[in-house]
Amino acid sequence: MIQATEAQTIIRTDLNELEPLERWHRGRVVLLGDAAHAMTPNLGQGACQAIEDAVTLGQCLQAVEGVDAALDLYEKKRVERVGQVVADSRRFGEVAHNEVSPPCLLSGEPFQDLFRGLYMEPLERIVRQV
Ligand SMILES: Cc1cc2nc3c(=O)[nH]c(=O)nc-3n(C[C@H](O)[C@H](O)[C@H](O)COP(=O)(O)OP(=O)(O)OC[C@H]3O[C@@H](n4cnc5c(N)ncnc54)[C@H](O)[C@@H]3O)c2cc1C
Repeated sequence: MIQATEAQTIIRTDLNELEPLERWHRGRVVLLGDAAHAMTPNLGQGACQAIEDAVTLGQCLQAVEGVDAALDLYEKKRVERVGQVVADSRRFGEVAHNEVSPPCLLSGEPFQDLFRGLYMEPLERIVRQV
C-alpha cells in the first residue's frame, strides 16, 4: 500500500503534545479536550478524555454555586487524571515508535511484559477510574 501511494498525495503531520497549561479557565472561558491537553494518540484516549472533560464540566456547573468556583472544581478534578493519561501515552509511544528498539523487544515474553506495563495497565487504570 505504501509503495502504491504517490508520494505527493501523502500529507505528513507531526504529532505534538501540549505542555501542561497553568490554568484551564479564565473568567467564563474554559478549555476542554485537545485545547486543554492535546496528547499523542498512542493509547487512543484524546477524544475519550475530551468526553470525560465535558461530563465533569457539566456536573461541576450543576453542583457548585458560581461559575468561577465550578470551573475551579472542574479543573481540579481533571488535571491529575489527564496528566497521567498524557504521560502514559507518551511513554508507550517512546517504546512503540522507537526505531532502534532491539528486535528481541518486539517478540516473545519481554515484549509481552513491556506491552502489559505500557499499554494494558494504563488502559485498565483509566477504565477503573471512570
Ligand atoms: C492519528 C490519531 C488517532 C487518534 N485516535 C484516537 C482514538 O482512537 N481514540 C480517542 O479517543 N482519540 C483519538 N485521537 C485523538 C482525538 O482525535 C482528539 O483528542 C479529539 O479529536 C479532540 O477533540 P477536540 O474537540 O478537543 O478537538 P478537535 O477534534 O481538534 O476539534 C477542534 C475543532 O475546532 C476547530 N477550530 C479550531 N480553531 C477554530 C476557530 N478559530 N474557529 C472555528 N473552529 C476552529 C477545528 O477545525 C476542529 O474542528 C486520535 C488522534 C490522532 C491524531
